[in-house]
Amino acid sequence: MATPTPNDPKKPAQPGQPAKPGQPAKPPAAQPGQPAKPQGAQPAKPAQPAKPGAAQPAKPAAGPPAKPQPAKPVAKKKEKSAVRTLGVILVDLGFIDDAQLASIEEEARQTDIHLDRIAMDRGLLNEDQLLQAMAELHGMALVNMDEVKPTPEAIKAVPQNMAELYKMLPLKMEADVLTVVMSDPNNLMALDDLRNMLGIRQVTAQLGPLSKIEAALAKAYSTTKEESIGDLIASLASDMDMGFGKRENSIDIASVEEMANAAPVRKLVNMVLLMGIKDHASDIHFEPFEDEFKMRYRCDGVLYEMVPPPRHLATAISSRIKVMSNLDIAERRLPQDGRIELNIGGNTVDMRVSVLPTMFGESIVVRVLDKGRVGLDLDKIGMPQDILVQFREMISKPNGISLVTGPTGAGKTTTLYSALSELNLITDKLITTEDPVEYEIEGLIQCQINHEIDLTFASALRAILRQDPDKILVGEIRDLETAQIAIQASLTGHMVFSTLHTNDAPGSVTRLRDMGVEPFLITATVEGILAQRLVRRICPVCKTEFEPSRDQIMELNLKPEDTRGKKFYFGEGCDKCNNLGFKGRTGIYELLVMNDDLRDLISKGGSTDQLRAYTRSKGNRGLRERGLDALFSGLTTIDEIVRETVLDEES
Ligand SMILES: [Zn+2]
Repeated sequence: MATPTPNDPKKPAQPGQPAKPGQPAKPPAAQPGQPAKPQGAQPAKPAQPAKPGAAQPAKPAAGPPAKPQPAKPVAKKKEKSAVRTLGVILVDLGFIDDAQLASIEEEARQTDIHLDRIAMDRGLLNEDQLLQAMAELHGMALVNMDEVKPTPEAIKAVPQNMAELYKMLPLKMEADVLTVVMSDPNNLMALDDLRNMLGIRQVTAQLGPLSKIEAALAKAYSTTKEESIGDLIASLASDMDMGFGKRENSIDIASVEEMANAAPVRKLVNMVLLMGIKDHASDIHFEPFEDEFKMRYRCDGVLYEMVPPPRHLATAISSRIKVMSNLDIAERRLPQDGRIELNIGGNTVDMRVSVLPTMFGESIVVRVLDKGRVGLDLDKIGMPQDILVQFREMISKPNGISLVTGPTGAGKTTTLYSALSELNLITDKLITTEDPVEYEIEGLIQCQINHEIDLTFASALRAILRQDPDKILVGEIRDLETAQIAIQASLTGHMVFSTLHTNDAPGSVTRLRDMGVEPFLITATVEGILAQRLVRRICPVCKTEFEPSRDQIMELNLKPEDTRGKKFYFGEGCDKCNNLGFKGRTGIYELLVMNDDLRDLISKGGSTDQLRAYTRSKGNRGLRERGLDALFSGLTTIDEIVRETVLDEES
């Protein structure tokens, strides 16, 4: 998971000052460890107010699929509602009449749109009325939000961060039972999350409109200063009773368990994980060293360090994460893999937990897979129009191999999923094999690689071919065996998508040849190769023009005259970007489409350099040129382009 991405993001030097390579400026003020402001304006995803999910009245309140209904917590459910559908309730409440219901039901049947949505679109129902009906349907109490008064105990029990992410207003906390107000009666799994994270006996829910919940949250927490991770760590540091020394040879399990469940440790781990989700981190790292315990997280491809917790809490923190991921806390000598699933704002956030025993304790990396967050859309990943047209043509061929290449973290998976989403038609069967499954896409059959039981890309691919697929995604071609089966699949009439780890598109041909693939098989199957990188986008709010120094222009391998008339920008840092100066990322792409001349060159054993020279002579722009395009159009900074495209070119 560790990638060669530099750890020290540097801001472009201030106008006038030369950027000193090798002496990167400290990442701007905002240490992710200190959540800065409760940037409530931008939650993971605006939860749909009162999700119209319950329009299938036969089985109301079914949470997200797969997982069994939690037995213990949740609101008292629909005792008497078992036979009453939402439609009937709407009639009973006098919101619509029988004739309207019949007509709505007919439309719902034909369009597959939920009944409540239709009623609202027709103007028969407003949000309050829908909520009232939902409350009745699910047997939940409807809260009059103008009169609610959250108790101080309830507000204290749930950190602001958590309440905001889950969009739940803590109402009261009595005898280890927390009552919250939520807007989505279908998201009962979230109550389970809260119960586990807070370590309390039960969470019950009442219903209220989202807008009022958000307003009440802002008010309830306005007087309590949000406790930052830094504050919590400072208070933990003084408490030397907790924790163990650094050579934890003889620790008994009972005390580890007790420590892992201690309220402050629970709270710290919750806060770190939730903040990672909120800031869209891709990975969260917990790293024990001899004298310190580091926490870092990766955002937009760059690692940031948080305030380190006291060293003596290392075992407690790692044990807590292991408890949350259902791992064996007694096993401390072998690597383990687990997962944590949270249900936040109507999305499932899946966290893959990897535990590695090291010299000084267990190193843990949590990979955050926020499946609901990514909009998988080829039009939105920063592909220039000319490449987009050719790429679409390439992926829609009936058979062949389409490759995407680049280092880890270059966004290859997002590109391929965006391609698959576009090809995801009911007339085609799409099967994927991945390590791990990063996004769940409806309509795709997705198969997870499992090395422990020898389910490899090659063996999964063999099985997939017996499943009558039309299009296949193989997470990565790492070896000759996988390459051969992919080629076989392509030759037998399938379109195969996969990734490789090479610097650029011409390099991929050489890589396949080095694996042992015959050149004539490459030319017979590979339709095209897309190379890509991700660069951070300058925050549009604090984007500022500046005049680069000579040194900076030289870093780009350009002469001053090359940049005449060009404008350069960087982000000064603002509230909207956590003072980072960047917001999100965009792709830099190079596309090599196979043609007869190229096939000829490959068959003759042309080297990477020869292939590259040939494609350039035909006007195919490489990653560096494409990177400069992005730079000159003001999307990103000099440093980003130097790091992602120029240095590669030199090596
Ligand atoms: Zn900004």
